[in-house]
Amino acid sequence: MSAAAAAPAPGLEEEFEALTQFLYMAPIGLVQARLDGEILMVNPLCAQLLMPLSPDGELCNLFTALGELAPDLAHRARGFEQPHGVICDAMQLQVRPRDGVRQAAAVLSLTLLKLDAERLMAVLADVTQQVRRDRELRQNQAWIHTLVTGLTDYALMSLDAQGRVRCWNPSVQRVTGHGESAVGQPYSLFYPADTMPPQRLQDRIDDAERTGWSLDEGWRLRADGSRFWGSCLVAPLHPPEEADSAERAYSLIIRDVSDQREASEALRRSVLTDHLTGVANRRAFFDAAEAELQRCKRAPRAMSLVLIDADHFKRINDAHGHAAGDAVLRHLAAGLAASFREIDVVARLGGEEFVVLLPGAGVEAAEGLARRVCRDIAARTVEVEGVDIRYTVSAGVATMDAGVDDVDALVKRADAAMYAAKHSGRNRVVRWHAGLAQHRAAAAQQA
Ligand code: GH3
Ligand code: MG
Ligand code: MG
Repeated sequence: MSAAAAAPAPGLEEEFEALTQFLYMAPIGLVQARLDGEILMVNPLCAQLLMPLSPDGELCNLFTALGELAPDLAHRARGFEQPHGVICDAMQLQVRPRDGVRQAAAVLSLTLLKLDAERLMAVLADVTQQVRRDRELRQNQAWIHTLVTGLTDYALMSLDAQGRVRCWNPSVQRVTGHGESAVGQPYSLFYPADTMPPQRLQDRIDDAERTGWSLDEGWRLRADGSRFWGSCLVAPLHPPEEADSAERAYSLIIRDVSDQREASEALRRSVLTDHLTGVANRRAFFDAAEAELQRCKRAPRAMSLVLIDADHFKRINDAHGHAAGDAVLRHLAAGLAASFREIDVVARLGGEEFVVLLPGAGVEAAEGLARRVCRDIAARTVEVEGVDIRYTVSAGVATMDAGVDDVDALVKRADAAMYAAKHSGRNRVVRWHAGLAQHRAAAAQQA
């Protein structure tokens, strides 16, 4: 460092002071911290945002305060090798309501900068309203797009109350290749196998009935078995006062939007995917679980969760290094994604903990799948840079019943069962039962 930089020109110091003062009062949350997260300065707005999140109720360390929302932040900061720069830019953090501390789910946006060899600066903002508006805007745009673009790439048909195709026309043939034999068949006909089971199809019809429409985008199937990227819009054709009639009818518009796939996939990936493993992230899991839980409440059906945690993962990091640990996490995520069903949601909750949401699966089925996965993992090795690594997992299974009010309650049950699996030796699956809740609470008290 030059002498001039060490002793700033007169006036510069005051300017810096003024700038810091300004930042301190700014309408955004600002934290200055050491590279290990120790907080040096935090402005009032930021303290207000961080305080409810901090697990220990203190604001000493940025990584501890954000530990639940961004468990790998410390890891990212450590791995950032440039002398200064942007470690993460406007990363969205989904805040779940916790024990009444926050009333509604909120979304925070976090930007983390490395200022120099010793300091980090974090900028935190509450973007809940923005995110909600963005989402609404995107839905509206999808609607408008559907209405104003040319009619040539549409398949337009009507469905009965059970979602069966009522009549055929040439547009169905043009987009999907299906002839008149499509009439009378459920519209899952246009979806790849297993991605639109009867229950989900009925859910979409019910969603359209309740909210006026239901839109989804993904792979669709043509009559010849080839796939295309399509959007499907279902909307009621009957007036709302006939919602209870057996004669209810819906329109289904299928569009081939293959040209938009990359853009919409990239957007979805950036917001809903775990960057390390490529499976769904925490937010995507809670969104999916919340939607499924609401469906369970409207029309009771089975739904289960499997919580999976790698055993003695610390030892893997210690013995083979963090990069090898990351490779094991990717291996585990890929194994889970391949082992569960197409409609299950495999997500990384954080660290070495994963969760799988199994819509429509009872506890027996979920436990059976979990046991198989647990066995398969123990039997396999991962090769990382020429070294064979073996690892095991412990899993907890919980299922929806009258005692479960929200997603958090279900996760807590799965967590208690997972903890019992750890306690009784690891490399095993335990199903939640009422007696487990006390174990976990007693152990937490001892700790
Ligand atoms: P247990 O069987 O009780 O679960 O033991 P454990 O060692 O797996 O559990 P513990 O919670 O003590 O340690 C988890 C370790 O996971 C500590 C942390 O450094 C590591 N970890 C968390 N996130 C990541 C990550 O993204 N990559 C790597 N390589 N390690 C991570
Ligand atoms: Mg572990
Ligand atoms: Mg863990």
